[in-house]
Amino acid sequence: MNQNDQHCKKIVFLFSDTGGGHRSAAEAIIEALEIEFPGCFNLEMVDIFKEYGPVPLNYMPDLYPQMVKLPHAWGLGYKLSNGHPQARVMTASAWPVMRKAMRQLIQDHPADLIVSVHPLAAAPVLKALGHERVPFINIVTDLVTTHALWYHRQADLCIVPTQPAYERALQCGLRPEQVQVVGLPVADRFCQPAGDREQLRQRLGWSQGLPVVLLVGGGEGMGPLEQTAEAVAASGLPLSLVIIAGRNQALKARLEARRWPIPTRVYGFVREMPDFMRASDFLVTKAGPGTISEAMNAGLPVILYSRLPGQEDGNVSYVVGEGAGVWAPRPAPVVQALRSWLEEPHQYQEAVAACQRLARPQAAREIGHILAKWAGAPASQ
Ligand code: UDP
Repeated sequence: MNQNDQHCKKIVFLFSDTGGGHRSAAEAIIEALEIEFPGCFNLEMVDIFKEYGPVPLNYMPDLYPQMVKLPHAWGLGYKLSNGHPQARVMTASAWPVMRKAMRQLIQDHPADLIVSVHPLAAAPVLKALGHERVPFINIVTDLVTTHALWYHRQADLCIVPTQPAYERALQCGLRPEQVQVVGLPVADRFCQPAGDREQLRQRLGWSQGLPVVLLVGGGEGMGPLEQTAEAVAASGLPLSLVIIAGRNQALKARLEARRWPIPTRVYGFVREMPDFMRASDFLVTKAGPGTISEAMNAGLPVILYSRLPGQEDGNVSYVVGEGAGVWAPRPAPVVQALRSWLEEPHQYQEAVAACQRLARPQAAREIGHILAKWAGAPASQ
């Protein structure tokens, strides 16, 4: 970053820690811009809710893990709100409470380009910017079943990860030239070759010689992580376990207090997810778009054990339909899927190949080049 350089173009990324995926996408693009255009940009991330949301919106990052614990209510809310007219009503009613804070945000963070990686940022920020404004780009961080709120018609460009997301954008009234399919941006290290897995495991202090099951419940340790870990550990399969509880401190404490019958490591929120994925053989996770895309780039087949209704339904059909993983919504099918892959290595290898087919290792860099153009940067390096 070049905070002191007055000549650098400035790009502001709007995100929020409602889950872990929005932050990861913004960080991946920032990393790509720094690789492709070293020293050319002043890059800043703003948590739109935590830093600028009026009460109670400023509690969104803290409330999100509680809200998604009620998946049926979440699914219903998703369904009822998922349409252009509903999106307009929601954003219009939020405007009176958001107005002052959004104007403050713009004043505090003058930019040459504003990029949002969160579906709730576009409407209030575009309204606060008014007509004489800098370019605004939306980057959709859901994969397939994408909410109407992502598709604000006044955004200059909307970058989407998949063809179904592109079609949804058109359904929501965006013009074809306003939408570009690139892929979901992930950190560069997910896309490096796995190299010597045993060496990586040794460096991480993991047990050697047994295939590793990596268990992740998104940034917040969501889904039946504990029961699934128990079932895998009790299965008698020759495996070791690495469990990521994310920001769920209570879950982490409970998992650490247990005695595990197979080699097991428990972590809270980790920053080394690329190495964790590249050192593992199987990923068991909820159907989060960020985690799935990272696993595809790392060539790591996935067993999806839960999903957020509505929002993540399409992720399950995408992974399963392409052969990159299986849907196993209870602990017993998770164990069964692991057993099949252990006993039928060719099936496992086919799933690895499917992941590699779906990988979009250049997505973050391609997005970096698009943003550079919109920010009026020098020609690409
Ligand atoms: N993540 C991480 N460390 C952790 C747990 C999760 O960096 O300990 C990252 C993970 O790699 C992914 C994001 O958090 O980039 C989770 O995003 P996803 O879209 O899968 O799910 P969400 O948490 O947004 O529902």
